[in-house]
Amino acid sequence: MAAYPELRLCISGEWRRRPGQPVFNPFDDSVLGELPHATREDMDDALARAAEGHRAWRRTAPAKRAQIMQQAARLLRERADAIAHAITLEQGKPVGQARVEVLRACDIIEWDAEEGRRAYGRVIPAEPGLRHIVVREPIGIVAGFAPWNFPISSPTRKVAGALAAGCAIILKASEETPAGAFHLVQAFLDAGVPDGALSLLFGVPGEISDHLIPQPGVRLVTFTGSVPVGKRLAAMAGAHMKPAIMELGGHAPVIVCGDADPDSAAATSAIGKSRNAGQVCVSPTRFFVDDAIHDRFASAFGERAAAVRIGNGLEPDTQMGPLANHRRVEAMERLVADALGRGARLLAGGSRAGNRGCLFPLTVLADVPDDALAMREEPFGPLALISRTRDIGEAIGKANSLPFGLAAYAFTQSAPHVERLSDEMECGNLSINHLTASIAETPFGGVKDSGYGREGGSEGLACYTVTKNVSHLVT
Ligand code: NAD
Repeated sequence: MAAYPELRLCISGEWRRRPGQPVFNPFDDSVLGELPHATREDMDDALARAAEGHRAWRRTAPAKRAQIMQQAARLLRERADAIAHAITLEQGKPVGQARVEVLRACDIIEWDAEEGRRAYGRVIPAEPGLRHIVVREPIGIVAGFAPWNFPISSPTRKVAGALAAGCAIILKASEETPAGAFHLVQAFLDAGVPDGALSLLFGVPGEISDHLIPQPGVRLVTFTGSVPVGKRLAAMAGAHMKPAIMELGGHAPVIVCGDADPDSAAATSAIGKSRNAGQVCVSPTRFFVDDAIHDRFASAFGERAAAVRIGNGLEPDTQMGPLANHRRVEAMERLVADALGRGARLLAGGSRAGNRGCLFPLTVLADVPDDALAMREEPFGPLALISRTRDIGEAIGKANSLPFGLAAYAFTQSAPHVERLSDEMECGNLSINHLTASIAETPFGGVKDSGYGREGGSEGLACYTVTKNVSHLVT
C-alpha cells in the first residue's frame, strides 16, 4: 500500500519544502511525516500568483473549466485507494469510510463542474432602447480554511465551489490531517488547472488567516471549523468588508416521535453516531425520545452501540477508528464525567480504550439532565445523549434551545408531525427518517451560531459569485 505522502506546500504549481511540525497517527501516536509551515514570503507569492491565476481561469470557457474539473475527479477516483489509506493514517476513520469520503469529493467536483456552466444571468424588460442585463461574475480570489475531520471532502467543497465559479483559491488545509488536501491539489494541477488559480498552504492557522484575510486581493473568506474561530475570522472579514461563508459547529437534535419504530430508529442512530467517530458537525447528538417508546429505544441504542467494533481503521472489520487527536479524547472524558456526576445513566462505552492513541468507544448516556455540559457544548465525538420527552412540542422546544442550528433529524410516520417539524425546526438542514444531512446537489449550512452562507447546490456556487447589473441605453 502507498506510503504517507511527503508533504509540501504548493504555490502556483511549485511544490515547496519547509520545516514545520510532525503529523501523528491517532491510532498509535506514531509520526507519519512533517508538515511544512508557510513563510510570509510563501503567502505573498501565493497571493501574487493567485491574481494571475484568476485572470487566466476566469477567461477560460466554462465548458473547458468543467472539463478540467471532471478530469481532476477522474484522477481522484483512480487514486482513491492510496488517498483513503493516507486519510486513515492521519485521521483514524476506517479505510472504507475514507474511501467513501474520497468518492464523495469526486461527486462534489463533478456536480459543481457541471453547475458552473449554468451561471446564467437575466435580461430585465425596460423601455425600447434600454437593456438591463444581470450577470454573475466570479467573486475573485478566495481564502479557504478547512478542518481536520474530513481531510479531503471538506477542502473539496471550497476548491470545487471556487473553481467552478471561475475564482482562484488559496487553501489553508488542516495542519493535523494534511494529506487529503495535498492529494486534492495534486489532482487538480495534474488535470490542468492553471498555475496560481489554486495554491495550498499549511502552517500556524492564525498566522495564515491574519495575513491573508486583510489582503485587498482576497475577496471572499470561507471557513469550516469551530464557532469561536469562525466568529474571529468573520469579524476580521467584516472589518475588511469581505463576505464570508461560515460553516461552524452544530449540536444536532434527533426527535424520535412516539409513532416511530424504536428498533429501527436506534439501529440507524448507532450507525449514524459512529460515522467518523462522531467528529462531524452534523453528527446526531441530542436524542429527544417520546416517553411512549423511550425505554425500548434507549436499550436498543445501548446494545447497538456496545456492539460497534473500534480499532485500527486499516483493519477491515473495524467499524469506528480512533478520535483524530487527544483533545477530543480529553473532551469526551470531561463531558461523560460531568453528565454522570449530574445523574445520567451510562448505557454503553464511557471511557477510553488502551493506553496509547485516541481510541474511545461509542458512548450512550440516558436521562441526561438539561444542565449537563454535554447538552450545551458540542461534543464533536462519539457521544449520544438521550432525554425523555412528553410530546413533539416539548422536543422541538428543547431542540431549538441552543445557539446552534446546523443539522436536525427526526423519526416519525406522521404527516402532521413532518409538517410541524419542517415549519418549526431552527436549522439549515432537516432530515426525517434518515441521517444524511446533505449531498452534492443540496445546499448545506447553518443558522444562528452555526454560521451563514451555503456549501453545495446552486446556492453554494452563488456564494462564489457577485451580481453585476449592466444597463445599456442604445443611442
Ligand atoms: P479549534 O477551534 O482550535 O480549531 C478548529 C479548526 O479551525 C481547525 O481546523 C484549525 O486549524 C482551525 N483554526 C484554528 N484557529 C484558526 C485561525 N486563527 N485561523 C484559521 N483557522 C484556524 O478546535 P479543534 O480542537 O481543532 O476542534 C474542535 C472543535 O472544532 C470542535 O468542537 C468542533 O466544534 C469544531 N470543528 C468543527 C468542524 C466542522 O465541520 N464544522 C470541523 C472541525 C472542528
